[in-house]
Amino acid sequence: MTKPTIKDPVQLYIGGEFRSAHKGNTFENKSPYTQETLNVVAEGRSEDIDLAVKAARDAFRNGAWGSMKVNERLSYIYKIADLIDKNIEEIAYLESIDTGLPIKQTKKMTSRAASNFRFYAEMVKNRMVGEAYKVDDEFLNYTVQKPVGVAGLITPWNAPFMLETWKIAPALATGNTVILKPAEWSPLTANKLAEIVDQAGLPEGVFNIVHGFGETAGASLVAHPDVQLISFTGETTTGSEIMRNGAASLKRFSMELGGKSPIIVFDDADIERALDACVWGIFSFNGERCTANSRLFLQESIADRFIEQLKERVSNIIVGDPSDMKTEVGPLIHTEHFNRVKHYLDIATEEGAEVYQGTVPSGLENGYFVPPTLLLNVKNEMRVAQEEIFGPVLAVMTFTSEEEAVHMANDIRYGLAGYVWTNDMKKGHRVAEAVEAGMLWVNSQNVRDLRIPFGGSKFSGIGREGGHYAFEFYTEMKVIHVSTAEHHIPQFGKANLASSTATQK
Ligand code: NAD
Repeated sequence: MTKPTIKDPVQLYIGGEFRSAHKGNTFENKSPYTQETLNVVAEGRSEDIDLAVKAARDAFRNGAWGSMKVNERLSYIYKIADLIDKNIEEIAYLESIDTGLPIKQTKKMTSRAASNFRFYAEMVKNRMVGEAYKVDDEFLNYTVQKPVGVAGLITPWNAPFMLETWKIAPALATGNTVILKPAEWSPLTANKLAEIVDQAGLPEGVFNIVHGFGETAGASLVAHPDVQLISFTGETTTGSEIMRNGAASLKRFSMELGGKSPIIVFDDADIERALDACVWGIFSFNGERCTANSRLFLQESIADRFIEQLKERVSNIIVGDPSDMKTEVGPLIHTEHFNRVKHYLDIATEEGAEVYQGTVPSGLENGYFVPPTLLLNVKNEMRVAQEEIFGPVLAVMTFTSEEEAVHMANDIRYGLAGYVWTNDMKKGHRVAEAVEAGMLWVNSQNVRDLRIPFGGSKFSGIGREGGHYAFEFYTEMKVIHVSTAEHHIPQFGKANLASSTATQK
C-alpha cells in the first residue's frame, strides 16, 4: 500500500458535498505518537448541523431514499461493504496514526466494518419481518417496521471506524437517513467513510458527517427537533447529559456507555488460558476498550503465582510505534487522556496501591505512552477499582469464596461486561448469571458474533445494539388493522334519527 496523504483538510460531508464549516472554523488533529499536526479539520457548529438535518430530512421525506425499493437500498449497503474491503489497508493505517492503536489490531477491527454492512443488509432481507394476528375471524392485524427518520449518531474515538459502522449499517439498511458526529480526536477514518459513501453513489443527503466538538456540534444534533433518534457511544456522564438535552424534543436514545468489567479467575481454571485472556483483555487497544477486563479478581490460592506471571507478561509487552506490526501497545490518543490516566496512577499510590509497570523504550518521549500497568493490593472501594481509567491499567484483587467474588464484582455502578474462568461448568453458569452486566463470557476472551445483542446494564447503558435487536431502535413498529368481515359498528345518532322519522309519519 502506498501510504495515503493525510495533510489535506478534513471537511464536513453534507447533502452529498464535501464542504468547509459554515463559519470557516477549523481545529487541529494531532498525532498521538509524535504530537505533530496531522491535518486540520472543519469544525461544524449548529448552522452546519441545521444544514445536515435539512439534507437528511429532505432525503428521507422527499428524496429517493424514502421511496426506494428495499433491494435497491440494500444494493448500496453491499457497495459500501465492497468499497471498505478495497480500502482496508488504508483505513487500518489511518485509524492507527489517528488513534495510536497498533496497526495489527486496527487491521482486524476495520475488516469487521465491512462485515457490519453485509450483515445488516442480510438481516434486513431475512429478519425484518412482521407478525400477523387473525382476530375473531373478522380482522387481520399485522405489523410492519418502518424507518424512524433522521438518525443522529454520536461516536467515541477508541475504535472509531468499527463503532461508527456498527451504527451506520443498521440505521441505513433499515431506511433511515444519517448524520454522524464522530469524535473530535479521531476524524480520519470517518472522513474516509464519507469518501466511500460518496463513491458508492448514495443519493444526496442520505449520509452526512459533521465533525466538531461535543458541546457544540454534538449538543446541536441532540437538541434538534427534526432528529428523531440519537445512538450514542461514549462516557456515562456524557450519556446522561445527552439524555437531559434531548428530553425537550422527546428523542429516542440508545446508550452504550462506560465500563469497569470484572474478570474472575477461580483456582480450578485453566490458568494459562485465563492469563492470556486477561492480558489481552486489558492491554489490547491500549486499554482504551469499553469491555476491557480492568478489574481482576483472583482466588487467593492461585493469586501469588498468577500475579508473578502477570508481572512477567507486563514487563515483556512490546510498546512502540503504532504503525509497526510488532507493536502490542501504542500511545494513548490525546494529551488530555494521557494526563487523565497518569492522574489515576497518582491516585492509586495515594490510595495505598502498589503500581507495577512495564517499560516504554527510550526514543518514544513524544508519544503519549503509559506502560502496561498493574495495580496491586487494591481494595474494591478505592477509586482506582471503581472508576473507569480507560488505559492499560489493571486493578488486581483477591477473593476466597464464590459469593465474595460475585459480591465484589457487583459492588460497582457499571455493568457492561464480565469474564469468568473456571473448569466447573455449574459454577461458570452460576457466576455468569449472578454478575450484574449485559454481557458475560465464560472461559473465553471477548469473542463476539454479530447476531448477539451488545450492551450494558446499570450505568453502562440503555438498550441493545447488534443482531435483530437493533431493529427495535432503528425502526418504528406499526400495526395495521384490517376488517375482513362485517363486524359490529355502534351507530351513534342513528336511534334518535329512527324515532324522529317515526314521529314525522
Ligand atoms: P465522550 O463521552 O467524551 O465522547 C463521545 C462522543 O460524544 C464524542 O463524539 C463527543 O464529541 C461527543 N460529545 C461529548 N459531549 C457531548 C454533548 N454534550 N452532546 C453531544 N455529544 C457530545 O467519550 P470518549 O472519551 O470519546 O470515549 C470513551 C468512552 O466511551 C469510555 O467511557 C468508554 O467506555 C465508552 N465506550 C463505550 C462503548 C460501549 O459499547 N459501551 C464502546 C466504546 C466506548
